[in-house]
Amino acid sequence: MSAVAWSGQAIGFIRSPYREKFAIPRQPGLVRLPAVLELVPPYDRAEAVRGLEGFSHLWLIFLFHATAAQGWKPTVRPPRLGGNARLGVFATRSTFRPNPLGLSVVELAGIRCERGVSLDLLGADLLDGTPVLDIKPYLPYADAIPEARAGFASEPPAARLQVEFAAEPASVLQPQPQLRDWLSQVLALDPRPAYRAGRDGCFAVQLFDYDVHCEVHGERLRVLELRSR
Ligand code: SAM
Repeated sequence: MSAVAWSGQAIGFIRSPYREKFAIPRQPGLVRLPAVLELVPPYDRAEAVRGLEGFSHLWLIFLFHATAAQGWKPTVRPPRLGGNARLGVFATRSTFRPNPLGLSVVELAGIRCERGVSLDLLGADLLDGTPVLDIKPYLPYADAIPEARAGFASEPPAARLQVEFAAEPASVLQPQPQLRDWLSQVLALDPRPAYRAGRDGCFAVQLFDYDVHCEVHGERLRVLELRSR
């Protein structure tokens, strides 16, 4: 009797700068990039979010929709451990779970109720298009446990790379003064998979509306070019 009668429905979808899984931070709050949660009918009603403005942070329960079809594995290799050691899936925040559900705490920067309902968020670790199943306000008295132990993940991952930009045409960077800072925050975390970390070379990553071409030498990452997509 393991099945539960329940038909989950997305209450909304995430619009985020992360257009592919590669380079998405591995937890929320590691970088402070903007994202939007657009609620969909019949949940996109102002009354459904009445009172939410009093909360600075929210829990989002969402579907790992891009990996759900790949199923789950009883053990996984957390990137944090260099991609070598295997741990039980329930000891990790892996996307490959029996039920492909994710849980992220994000900052609520604003609520817009002009046409439907949109929540402005900061610090999400979610792929563009992620279906969100529920929102719950973050309650510090119940949810924050400063003395909690965190197994193999006791420290936040540190920014590892120093990011610099090759000269970019003003037409790209000037209209979006924060773009350089946002890209730097993401790239400094070193998006390369654990098995490639430490290897010099070039890669490209889709962020915002750009293919961002980068080159890594040691601890320096140079953004070579932003190509509009
Ligand atoms: N904070 C959440 C949790 O603990 O459940 C997610 C943690 S999971 C390790 C974070 C990774 O999930 C991101 O780096 C990204 O690669 C992946 N991811 C984000 N949104 C996804 C989606 N909609 N489908 C599949 N993978 C996703």
